Amino acid sequence: MPAKKRPLLERMARARKLKRIRTERKVTKSRHEGIRVLRNISAIRRFRQEAKGKAVTRLGFGKEENRAFEHVAGLMRKSGLSVRTDAFGNLYGRLEGKSSKVVMVGSHLDSVRRGGAFDGVYGVTAALEALNNIKATGNPAHPIDLVVWRCEESARFNKAMLGSNAALGKLTAEDLIRTDANGVTLRKALEQNGLTYKPGQQLINPQNVLLYIEPHVEQGDILARAKRKRIGIVTRIAGPERYELTFKSHSAHSGATPMGRRHRKDANVAASKATVKTRNLALRANHISRILGPTVSQAVHKGPIVGTVTQMRTVQGSLNTIPGMVRTTLDVRALSTHQRGKLAKRIITGVRKAALKEGVSLDVKELSRSPPVSMSAKNVTLLERVCKENGIVHRKMPSGAGHDASNLQKAGIPSAMFFVPSEGGFAHNPHERTHIKDLGAGVVLLTKFLHGVAKVSPVN
Ligand SMILES: [Zn+2]
Repeated sequence: MPAKKRPLLERMARARKLKRIRTERKVTKSRHEGIRVLRNISAIRRFRQEAKGKAVTRLGFGKEENRAFEHVAGLMRKSGLSVRTDAFGNLYGRLEGKSSKVVMVGSHLDSVRRGGAFDGVYGVTAALEALNNIKATGNPAHPIDLVVWRCEESARFNKAMLGSNAALGKLTAEDLIRTDANGVTLRKALEQNGLTYKPGQQLINPQNVLLYIEPHVEQGDILARAKRKRIGIVTRIAGPERYELTFKSHSAHSGATPMGRRHRKDANVAASKATVKTRNLALRANHISRILGPTVSQAVHKGPIVGTVTQMRTVQGSLNTIPGMVRTTLDVRALSTHQRGKLAKRIITGVRKAALKEGVSLDVKELSRSPPVSMSAKNVTLLERVCKENGIVHRKMPSGAGHDASNLQKAGIPSAMFFVPSEGGFAHNPHERTHIKDLGAGVVLLTKFLHGVAKVSPVN
């Protein structure tokens, strides 16, 4: 090797070594942060209906959610944040700044029935850790609010994201008379908690919010399956279109009625066919979009197209009766309303045809329809830049699940979201788990992002 070249090669090797050391230092630091976040998640896990095991049931406005809120309020105070709650019980911990425009970061603490410990709680605990980091290094020009939304899951009142909807003045009088499984209305639940929210009351002014960011565990297995993808930067959140499907025929005796289709009109068979048909048609829609390549709408909204029969209930059934009425719900999602509508129409037509073959009729009632929402492009770019600068492996991806961030973006607040991987892709499941290094990487990303947008100046 020519002597002249050696110094250059040596320099390159040295630069590589230094880079490796710097990355390792960053990884070690983020590991400590991951450990602290995990400790807080474990502490919050205690507030659940279950006495043992891994499952977490913490429904909105239940005593477990209240205790989790009190616990987090305590952590906020300990971190020196100014703590307050609004008329719907949403909790805010503020790191003060001089500007009138506030930066918001947050998520939720409630869970589905028998869910896991990380959904929602990660966003809250990661934000707390990031605020501690910022407080230790400087003063933000923009105040930063850590917001904990009430009742994000639809598990109790069959409607999701109640807290952020309420804060934005989007809850109606009809919403307040929604009931839970025990017949308790949302209004009653609010009263029981001493909360005075009135329908349409706006609790935050979007004009005063500079931006909102929500860290969350991914609720699928895309990041967990990827070889080197640690963070998912959310570009767009899919919106669901939901229907209630009622299969009707007539009940008959399960012992006395012969098996032939001439004799039996089994609503359960029709509903079961609907489940399979929905799966197959959704699979085909994905397949077609892959073969044909991006059409104009898919080029903009490339992402999941999914259809699921989510609940199935035999109405007035008994052990020895061929069901005469079965009720199911259908949930269809895509990143464009056009794709979603096309799939929903296909499913309903196919399901009706299959039911008629069984001598069963189908009633369809639309339950809800919310538009897909794109996250703020500026925030996506900024998150990407922070990832690159800090050696955080990342990818851009859509979210098939709904989140409060879509509500805030719809209200005109530039919003952002990022995911950390969920090991095994578990979500709404007691086995939810995220690796410590991923929990920590999210904190590093969030800290640097907030540092930039809230304009933190160093303490003298
Ligand atoms: Zn969640």
